[in-house]
Amino acid sequence: MKDEFDAIVVGAGPAGCAAALSLARNGLSVLLIERGRFAGAKNVTGGVLYGAALNELVPEFWKEAPVERRVTRHVVTFLSQRTAVSIDFDSKGLEQTSSSGFTVLRAKFDRWFAGKVEEAGGVVITGIPVDDLLWDGQRIAGVIAGGDSIPAPVVVAADGVNSVLAKKAGLGVQLSPANVNQGVKEIIKMPRELIEERFNLDENDGTAIHFLGHCTRGVHGGGFIYTNKDTISLGVVVQLKALIDNRLRSVELLEGFKEHPSVRALIKGGTTVEYSAHLVPSGGLTAVPRLCADGLLVTGDAAALVLATGRSLEGLNFAVASGMAAAEAVKTARQKGDYTSKTLSAYTDLLAGSFVMQDLKTFKKAPRFLENQRIYSVYPELACSLAERLFTVDGKAKRTVWQLGLEEVKRKTSAWQLVKDVMAARRAV
Ligand code: FAD
Repeated sequence: MKDEFDAIVVGAGPAGCAAALSLARNGLSVLLIERGRFAGAKNVTGGVLYGAALNELVPEFWKEAPVERRVTRHVVTFLSQRTAVSIDFDSKGLEQTSSSGFTVLRAKFDRWFAGKVEEAGGVVITGIPVDDLLWDGQRIAGVIAGGDSIPAPVVVAADGVNSVLAKKAGLGVQLSPANVNQGVKEIIKMPRELIEERFNLDENDGTAIHFLGHCTRGVHGGGFIYTNKDTISLGVVVQLKALIDNRLRSVELLEGFKEHPSVRALIKGGTTVEYSAHLVPSGGLTAVPRLCADGLLVTGDAAALVLATGRSLEGLNFAVASGMAAAEAVKTARQKGDYTSKTLSAYTDLLAGSFVMQDLKTFKKAPRFLENQRIYSVYPELACSLAERLFTVDGKAKRTVWQLGLEEVKRKTSAWQLVKDVMAARRAV
């Protein structure tokens, strides 16, 4: 078999596009294969893209990429059944940099990213799923797609969560209901001026709101609202195991979330124009499989490279950074003419030296900590009921904040339990 390409990249999400673009820019002939009708056709993200990694690849990408808004307001909101308490960080006064979050819509963003690969000389084929790996003895030697065998000395698997290629390569991917979340999302259309007025935004500024508590009926997960130019992205992300154990359906949670008085007010007058659902890895460091085999590297969600700490969900930047690192390793392998896992493991070293593995290590206890049910039930309820009492003036003698706080803690849990949970949080997140 003669190799027509120096590398094949499977999946034109952010991991695959970043890998293919880096390879093409370095003069390698690269084939990017995407099963969707076009890149981003079915891809789902909340989505806030943190841009530092992408900025290395495409400097000042936001000037040409179809980003929606730059996030200048980050809000964390605790929900009870009827009330809400928020921590609101407004950074309009700060100089905004590439590491500010940008809201994106994947159908536009991925298409742009795949277009950059073509501009750089890469070949992008869409509408064809890769069905299998091509083997040359024990070594991976290309892919099988649309009934054709396409040989290449190295394959970059960027085929997302539940990666067929990583499984077929035997890299030890362990996807289970406990280490994967299900996200459901709506895009709600609304006039641009209304969004800016309602979310207190200047032109091009954006808001990211993360919700905890009643949005998931107190089970492991959270909700989000992100502002785009003239739409709002709204959704819930819930651990699959929590859905199964509690016999909940994420679509019902989404409907309930939209009905919460504080949320209803934010989306009033909007029209749902899109609905989507997708899985996202949440197992952290221990869920990361082996990252290479002879002739194959695995990147992004396919390698479970996602950081979920409860305060944010970062997968896009991890995907871009891992795609770029995979491309570096392929370049080295090509120079040496050696595509064994020994040489390709330069990828693992590059990731170990980057924020990707360092963050997953720093927050390695986060997945276990986030199993604590009280984070989603007791504490949001506690914050809301304390705020309700603080802001209720009913003509009776008032109590101090400390007294009210202690009473609410005792009513909802115990002071000792609270201390233990705070200590666990200190170590994990
Ligand atoms: P994907 O984006 O899944 O891309 C994989 C690509 O491979 C797809 O285009 C797919 O069609 C293609 N493919 C799959 N199989 C094949 C095949 N056999 N042949 C050919 N092509 C194939 N991350 C953030 O950073 N910020 C957020 O706000 C955020 N919010 C999220 C909200 C939700 C509801 C969900 C589900 C995820 C969220 N994430 C967020 C995570 C983020 O979306 C992912 O981590 C990121 O998309 C991973 O990129 P990827 O390129 O590895 O995989």
